[in-house]
Amino acid sequence: MGFAIIGLGGYALNQMMPRFALAQRSHIAAIVSGNPEKLKQVGDAYGVPPDARYTYDSFDAIADDKRVEAVYIVLPSGLHAAWTEKAFAAGKHVLCEKPMALSSEECARMIAAAERAKRKLMIAYRSYFEPHNRLAMALMAQKALGPLRLLRADHSYRMGPVTPAQNWRLDRALAGGGPLEDLGIYGLQAALYLTQEVPELITASTYQPEGDARFTQIFAHVGAQLRFPSGAVAQLSTSYDAAGANTVSARGATGVLTMDPATSYSGQKMRLEQAGQAGRDLTPGDPDVQFAGQLDHFADAIRDGGQIKTPGQMGLRDVRLMEAIYASARTGRYVRLNPDGTMLD
Ligand code: NDP
Repeated sequence: MGFAIIGLGGYALNQMMPRFALAQRSHIAAIVSGNPEKLKQVGDAYGVPPDARYTYDSFDAIADDKRVEAVYIVLPSGLHAAWTEKAFAAGKHVLCEKPMALSSEECARMIAAAERAKRKLMIAYRSYFEPHNRLAMALMAQKALGPLRLLRADHSYRMGPVTPAQNWRLDRALAGGGPLEDLGIYGLQAALYLTQEVPELITASTYQPEGDARFTQIFAHVGAQLRFPSGAVAQLSTSYDAAGANTVSARGATGVLTMDPATSYSGQKMRLEQAGQAGRDLTPGDPDVQFAGQLDHFADAIRDGGQIKTPGQMGLRDVRLMEAIYASARTGRYVRLNPDGTMLD
């Protein structure tokens, strides 16, 4: 299936585009960029014909380009909704990077646009295609830890000395509240795919330091506690101003599963400890398959009409939960939730 890649930034150039070589049923058919030099260099490097190199201004002509079946949106998060709608208006399927968008209202518009166009929408949650995370989901389904009680996820790194004008990740219009949408979303996702539940109660706090040019528009840290209908409780923390962390752990009544790093591009490690047994390090496979795996999954779902594992509805649910986290932090109160992640009050 032919993809048009829109937004030739760090993630597209360094991670996703090289991984197309490992995909079986997906290839790069076109590129879209605001930078003519990148269009030339990247187009030449990937053998993209000159007439399949689009700018943001010429994008609408992609509607008539039969080589392109899907658009892969790798733009700053605040641009996901508008470009998803444009891609559906052009009659293409859409693979959209995480977070799906910055508000549930935008997500609902994206889903409606997919329905109108009769095209598919997938959110690029790569951990669903990564062997360690997949094994973790299977172990939870088998109740390998007994009933799940406590989860913990920490995702952080330390942002260099930049300003919102220099880096969109610090700009509220493009990044929302900041680290939660960018990094914390991996922990939120893990809490949901390990419990297979949606929280019924959320309490959270945010921190925005004064006098730090990085955090004039976004938060430095976000912490949240989620309680699930089973009684399991998850602690999530995320930061742009703390030493690097990428860890998820699940503690059941009779065992513990630790993943560190849990949701990185590579190097995942996991350890299972069960009552009465020696702890075991598990090595279910090469994390690198997650990138091509998500591409081919989308191609298969389009070809065969199959279910998408990470559809727009999942992205919407997660954005709703992030809205609930911010609502709790803003008001200092618990937020109660419906099973679809909408706020009860
Ligand atoms: P970058 O800043 O590296 O790249 C974004 C690209 O978007 C730019 O290079 C530019 O491409 C284009 N762009 C268009 N308008 C703007 C604008 N106003 N400001 C800045 N860039 C603009 O970001 P990333 O590649 O790191 O992130 C892109 C998306 O991918 C985000 O949604 C992010 O959350 C997601 N991501 C996902 C990861 C994952 O593991 N799934 C990891 C990293 C990011 P051009 O010059 O070609 O026009």
